[in-house]
Amino acid sequence: MGALTGRVAFVTGAGSGIGRASAIALAAEGAIVFVTDIDAPGGRETVAMIEKAGGQATFRGQDVTEEARWAELVQRVMDLYGRLDVLVNNAGIGTSGAITDVTLDQWNHQMAVNVTSCFLGIKHALPAMRTPRPDGRIGGSIINISSVAGLGGSAGMAAYCASKGAVRLMTKAVAMECAAARDGIRCNSVHPGIIDTPIWQKLDTSGALQAAVDPGANALDVKLIGAGAPVGHPGQPEDIAAGVVFLASDASRYMTGAELVIDGGWTAH
Ligand code: NAD
Repeated sequence: MGALTGRVAFVTGAGSGIGRASAIALAAEGAIVFVTDIDAPGGRETVAMIEKAGGQATFRGQDVTEEARWAELVQRVMDLYGRLDVLVNNAGIGTSGAITDVTLDQWNHQMAVNVTSCFLGIKHALPAMRTPRPDGRIGGSIINISSVAGLGGSAGMAAYCASKGAVRLMTKAVAMECAAARDGIRCNSVHPGIIDTPIWQKLDTSGALQAAVDPGANALDVKLIGAGAPVGHPGQPEDIAAGVVFLASDASRYMTGAELVIDGGWTAH
């Protein structure tokens, strides 16, 4: 029996990178995983990978910025499984550029995908997690994927840092609210360092971020940036997934409002 056998986990942005690795790792511990992503082929591929490994998962398309879709999908989880135990708010994008160059549209989109998504996910997941299971128990684990960029600033990343800092403190506020409600729901944030995922290819390579990282290179190279971590290399999505499984499981039952930093020492100096 796995650490999460019988539990149901909802993972956003699970069609790629950290979300995919987390969905696979949660399923490997016995969870039924509800995989969502705006990228349908990616999400379906994740489900196929889980099923091939003998796990259980289902995919639904979701833009995490849309409230009606959140309501619909949480209801779908309850109709299918009658419970929701774990929510991983993982979907995210990175907007780079000097703050003077970032447009209001870019800023609003960054906040919608990285911050509003967590608000909506938590808002709609809490009533489901507070629904009694067959044994009468209530509770759950909410895991918000923030970043080392939610702990400190980086040139060319003001919008992204603002979004991840907001996720960090939303996490703590929700943790306090749930603790006060004695509802057995924990809420923690994960702070990855430089992780080798496709997000780096999607970043705008012009402007302040590029200048801050490596003025000589003509593209953001995750291996090059990751080499700047004290351990000398970037992390893999599975390194973050291991933390997600820990926070989802009862092994972390006394943790709430905490920051789990997985960064190869990036923030240790
Ligand atoms: P990724 O690009 O591989 O995966 C992100 C996923 O989110 C993609 O599948 C994408 O389709 C999905 N997504 C984007 N916009 C969406 C929307 N509106 N609705 C639903 N899904 C949407 O990137 P990743 O590196 O795996 O990032 C996952 C999370 O980890 C993000 O929140 C990111 O900010 C965070 N993070 C990543 C790193 C890193 O170095 N890779 C570091 C710190 C934090």
